[in-house]
Amino acid sequence: MTSHIDVPDSTDPADAQTPAQREEARRYGRIHLALTLADMAVDVIYLGLMAFVFGPRIDAWLAGFAPLAGEKSTLRLLALFGVVIGLHILVSLPLSFYSGYVVEHQFGLSNQSIRRWLRNWSLGNVLAVLLGAVLNVGLFWIIWHTGTYWWLIAAAAFFVVSVALGQLAPVVIVPLFYKVEPLDNAELLERMKRLAAGTGLTIEGVYRLGLSADTSKANAMLAGLGRTRRVLMGDTLLERFSPDEIEVIFAHEIGHHVHRHIPKMIATGVVTSLAGFWLLDQVITWWANIPSAADAPTSALPLVMFTLTAFMLILAPLQNAISRHYERQCDRYALVRTGKPAVYRTAFYKLARLNKADMEPNPMEVILLHSHPPIAERLAMAGDASS
Ligand SMILES: [Zn+2]
Repeated sequence: MTSHIDVPDSTDPADAQTPAQREEARRYGRIHLALTLADMAVDVIYLGLMAFVFGPRIDAWLAGFAPLAGEKSTLRLLALFGVVIGLHILVSLPLSFYSGYVVEHQFGLSNQSIRRWLRNWSLGNVLAVLLGAVLNVGLFWIIWHTGTYWWLIAAAAFFVVSVALGQLAPVVIVPLFYKVEPLDNAELLERMKRLAAGTGLTIEGVYRLGLSADTSKANAMLAGLGRTRRVLMGDTLLERFSPDEIEVIFAHEIGHHVHRHIPKMIATGVVTSLAGFWLLDQVITWWANIPSAADAPTSALPLVMFTLTAFMLILAPLQNAISRHYERQCDRYALVRTGKPAVYRTAFYKLARLNKADMEPNPMEVILLHSHPPIAERLAMAGDASS
């Protein structure tokens, strides 16, 4: 393999991208940041208006229809959820289209036709509406029927749902959006088998993920729980990276398995959901001026959606910090396991170029929004490990 010989053996981020590429990556990063912040603002403002201004009115209007009348009506709850989420999807559509289609095409990162974008957008929203309907009705059922400590039961239910979704994600949800097929490259599989030996990750669990139908960006991930645990390697990565580079990235994914990051993330989720549901209990009783959340009216639904969304946004920096810590652990694991710091560096150079990644984003942006450390920082780690 000669694909990385043209790259100097250096940890200087300047070597990964030409000055023009760096400038383009920085511009892409800035636009991406602005769109992420705008999206968050739209979510909070829209749900805030629904919670405190329009939601109760829509609820009162819906109550005028005979089948939806009465207190604690599940049908009215579903209808209200449908109106709130339906309008939310419409309000977010211009921003979703601009960030998911227009910008990605402007920067030459998207392979999607407008048809395919629409298909994925619709499918994603159908899933979000169905899952959201079940979760919100389930949550209200728990609030109405399980007493003072409903938030404990809701957190337990959250755990069950997380485990179920964790198991289903790679076998049911991911294949709806991407082609997933077993990796059929014998040489690569042999290398991976050697790397995975003794870690409990079976080699039958390596799959080729058809990212190229949508994007030119390279990516890989560990997904699933128990028997559905698998490594998904983007076809964009398999085609453009050398076997040595793929090995280093695969070792990073093994790191997530060895360090048990998925179960840890679920455990963190349970703790934060406990806090979130307790907070929700306080907010509902205050807003409706009732002694117990068990008396919550259906009109509290938009407030529930607003509170949980705002709570998750506030917690995001903490979750990102944990995620960046996990990523550093896996980078270290990959370096030690493969003993190939020079290959590790060329892999990240390539990743920076392909994904048009800003290698040194604003530190504040990283703290608040990034789930992965900047590539410059990840390269510096390889510098330390090889010296
Ligand atoms: Zn990772």
